[in-house]
Amino acid sequence: MRCPYCQNPETKVTDKRESGGAIRRRRECLNDRCGKRFTTYEKIDSVERFVIKKDGRREPFNRDKVFLGVMKACEKRNISHDKIEKIIKDLEENIQNKKEIETKKIGEFVMKNLKKIDKVAYIRFASVYRDFEDVDDFKDLMKEVRE
Ligand SMILES: [Zn+2]
Repeated sequence: MRCPYCQNPETKVTDKRESGGAIRRRRECLNDRCGKRFTTYEKIDSVERFVIKKDGRREPFNRDKVFLGVMKACEKRNISHDKIEKIIKDLEENIQNKKEIETKKIGEFVMKNLKKIDKVAYIRFASVYRDFEDVDDFKDLMKEVRE
């Protein structure tokens, strides 16, 4: 966010609040010779959400993609559509105020919720989303599930 007075790219947010479907931020220019304060507004409903992938790439948040991922993990398990829908709804509520979210965070959220519903679906989902650093991580996960 550039300072509108001196175009300095460095500003800091001194106050942030939400009102009437917008986020209002008080900012202060960090340029010593300027230091002016100004306010920015950002409409919440017009915010496009992005996911940040493991390699740092960004792409628009795609609800359907997450939904399909969960569906696939739940294949042939006795899990109702409503339960899957609930996970996705909770996820959306959880990230409502975020402009960017790491895919890792989305994966963790889904895993946490799947774990409560179905262990097999959880393992399937985890094996795709969780980043197994080495074999020990996977062993830990298997142990966690068995307990
Ligand atoms: Zn300035």
